[in-house]
Amino acid sequence: MPSKEFNFIDRYFKAIGKNHPSTILGIGDDAAISTIDKNCSLVSCIDSLIEGRHFLKNTTPYAIGYKSVAVNLSDLAAMGAAPFAILLALNLPQKYANDAFLAPFAQGISDICQKFKIDLIGGDTTCADTLSINITALGYVPKNAFIGRNGAKLDDIICVTGKLGSASFALAQLLKNKSCTLENALHYPTARVDLGQKLRGFAHAMIDISDGLIQDLGHILSQSGERAKCDFGADIFLDKLPFDNALDILPKHKKYAHILGGGDDYELCVCLSAQSLQQFNRLYPNALYPIGKICAQNSIRYLDNNERVDLNISGFNHF
Ligand code: ADP
Ligand code: MG
Repeated sequence: MPSKEFNFIDRYFKAIGKNHPSTILGIGDDAAISTIDKNCSLVSCIDSLIEGRHFLKNTTPYAIGYKSVAVNLSDLAAMGAAPFAILLALNLPQKYANDAFLAPFAQGISDICQKFKIDLIGGDTTCADTLSINITALGYVPKNAFIGRNGAKLDDIICVTGKLGSASFALAQLLKNKSCTLENALHYPTARVDLGQKLRGFAHAMIDISDGLIQDLGHILSQSGERAKCDFGADIFLDKLPFDNALDILPKHKKYAHILGGGDDYELCVCLSAQSLQQFNRLYPNALYPIGKICAQNSIRYLDNNERVDLNISGFNHF
């Protein structure tokens, strides 16, 4: 079932993106693709982070700045794009309009921009009741080389690029006022910018995991199935899922709720043929964790060492 958020977008906004021939891919993927040159496409996306919703009130200004950029770069990475710039629209409450907040906030943005060699090229600042940070990120891909959500094929191997569930577990601990060794996963997500670009020419479909693996994989399954005019489902191998040992203190159902349904991972979920996976592994060993397979069925099945397991996993829902 598509969530309410996607119903709104499909119903009200999707049709507005069909006026200009430059738009190759509009609403519906991690980022939009526009033609700017015969050899090159512009890749653009925007994400908002709002205090109390996307980060807890006591998150450091440094982490807020860093993460606001990281989540956008993750969307560009999910298209296989090379980022080059960001724009920052800041809704700033009076209480944060001071050096104590802005200096570390800007340092967080600066550090991740330096890490990926990208520039802050503009933005807008307004006074508002609630802190919100709206970042547009820009990147490029060679023409037609982007990796969308709708290209997965039957029998593709589903891979992820790192451990899942850490951020979701850390957030649950923080909400219970407990400290957690995995807090960095929540505050400083690794945008897989290099790996996303290396996957060009190998991956059939890709998405970044922001709302939980199962929900985000669901977008690949529905869009790829629609394109192939066939039911697309998946087998997920629970014994192959990468996760941090710290989650082992949890009962199994809670552990899998974080790993499969928890938000904020910002790893990539990648679908590619078994042959492409082999070739990719030869070039970049240990970068991808195979965790499942695309199948012609209308559901996601879970297997633990080849035994069917019933799990009820739901991802993050905004409304
Ligand atoms: P992601 O999680 O990768 O950031 P989303 O789930 O937020 O992607 O959005 C799905 C698609 O809907 C994207 O293509 C995004 O650009 C588009 N979208 C979301 N909200 C709006 C909006 N208010 N107007 C136009 N497009 C939107
Ligand atoms: Mg995304």
